[in-house]
Amino acid sequence: LVRLRRRLAGSQGGLGRGLLALLSRDRVDEDTWEEIEDTLITADVGVGPTQELVARLRERLRVEGGSTASVADVLREELTTLVGRDADRSLGTTGADGGPGVVLVVGVNGTGKTTTVGKLARMLVAEDRRVLLGAADTFRAAATEQLSTWGERVGVEVVTGPEGGDPASVAFDAVRRGAEDGADVVLVDTAGRLQNKAGLMDELGKVKRVVEKQAPVTEVLLVLDATTGQNGMTQARVFAEVVDVTGIVLTKLDGSAKGGIVVAVQRELGVPVKLVGLGEGPDDLAPFDPDGFVAALLG
Ligand code: GDP
Repeated sequence: LVRLRRRLAGSQGGLGRGLLALLSRDRVDEDTWEEIEDTLITADVGVGPTQELVARLRERLRVEGGSTASVADVLREELTTLVGRDADRSLGTTGADGGPGVVLVVGVNGTGKTTTVGKLARMLVAEDRRVLLGAADTFRAAATEQLSTWGERVGVEVVTGPEGGDPASVAFDAVRRGAEDGADVVLVDTAGRLQNKAGLMDELGKVKRVVEKQAPVTEVLLVLDATTGQNGMTQARVFAEVVDVTGIVLTKLDGSAKGGIVVAVQRELGVPVKLVGLGEGPDDLAPFDPDGFVAALLG
């Protein structure tokens, strides 16, 4: 948690400093409200959520009166609500009837999908779970090789298929192997070609259907690159429409990303951010903690 705070504080200090500086003024006038709005929008909170947030802040300030210090408190409270303070962020990794839990990891190429599968494997292994990986991203050159490297790195087996082969067939093989070998969790890396929506739906739908001949899918994690801001949101909406996403992994929060995207994700998709990626190394994945996150966001 300390590391998370440090990294978030490092990357999102801009928002924190900006807002707190605005709120330390003697009085909040129209210009200040506009600047607060601009700051939130620049931080990727999104236009809609920003306007709602500012409207609520103004209303509460009007009704409750108070100083700019209480504006800061109200802002902290509202942001915590917006990132889904009470959402269930547990990962569905427990299978039914003695079978393995099945986690599908989906998202556009380059968002950090394969890396996330590797890091998540590491996290589960540390909890003494028996993990198996399925390299069903058969379209991206080197994805299978990359996942195999992760498998060696964190000490778990990887089920692979031929490059350009059928992703659903690799996913099926992985889950079958997992069931046979008594694995606790099978993590399936899927192909992230964002062609047209129908194509994506066919592909992911087939992977899910085929896998479920073996064992129910217990978690569908959508990986989003925080540095892509509102563009990432557009991709996320498409995925959320074609497959029942149960959790979001927000990657690259260690970079120049502006963490306000968490607000947009939670509000627009109604799916909780469950994990955050904070770097390229095996231990750079952390559970999302709303209070800590907002504290870091506000500096
Ligand atoms: P995929 O195409 O979605 O499977 O993406 P990859 O897993 O290959 O990741 C794309 C690039 O992003 C790689 O260079 C990763 O090392 C990097 N990456 C993934 N997650 C993170 C993260 O949380 N932080 C940073 N800084 N880089 C990341």
